[in-house]
Amino acid sequence: MRLALFGAGGKVGQALAPRLEAAGHEVRGFDLGDEPELDGCGVAVDFTTPEAAPENVRLALEHGVSCVVGTTGWDPAALGSLAADRGLRLFVAPNFSIGAVLMMRFAREAAEHFPRAEIVELHNEAKKDAPSGTARATAQLLGNDAQIHSVRLPGLVAHQEVIFGGEGQLLTIRHDTTGRESFADGVLLALSKLGELPPGLTVGLEALL
Ligand code: NAP
Repeated sequence: MRLALFGAGGKVGQALAPRLEAAGHEVRGFDLGDEPELDGCGVAVDFTTPEAAPENVRLALEHGVSCVVGTTGWDPAALGSLAADRGLRLFVAPNFSIGAVLMMRFAREAAEHFPRAEIVELHNEAKKDAPSGTARATAQLLGNDAQIHSVRLPGLVAHQEVIFGGEGQLLTIRHDTTGRESFADGVLLALSKLGELPPGLTVGLEALL
């Protein structure tokens, strides 16, 4: 399929494009200041900024092109309505790493059997916010006020452990992101399942797993 990739020159975009091409897609990349040429594109993929993503998505939907979006920090609800009105799909996932989404799913299952858990999230020192969005989402899923511990050090990429404590036993569920290539599998999954989704907005990779 021919894909428009908004943010092709960014850190995620640069890791993503070769994986999309290796999977047989033709990638047309756009960055800030480019005039997007969407004719013939089947889907638009966006990994840009919270300021740029809404306009890119609107443009794509107005061209009749469904969207897969990884950009975080914006509200896609209004554009979901536009997509639904046009019979198009807008798929948005705050985390395209399949392993991280499974880690959260397994943690939710474990929480049914272990009443106490704490979360340790470890990221590179360049990450300014703490705790991470994934850690906060995991704590919400566990529903038991799990405490979050944040570690920021050089040498780390993105890692999270959920440690469950019980009488005489511990269970640790851990996910390690070692490279941005990890997001490509989630994007490819979204592209392959996009046509099965109802028109309008779908949020979260868990909806596809
Ligand atoms: P980045 O390195 O800053 O890249 C952003 C790219 O977007 C740059 O190439 C930039 O071009 C481009 N851009 C800015 N405005 C644009 C516009 N109007 N049209 C087209 N391209 C535009 O950021 P990143 O680390 O790749 O992350 C991108 C986004 O993905 C962030 O929101 C991040 O939080 C999110 N993210 C999501 C996941 C997930 O799993 N969902 C994973 C990682 C990151 P210029 O350099 O020319 O400005």
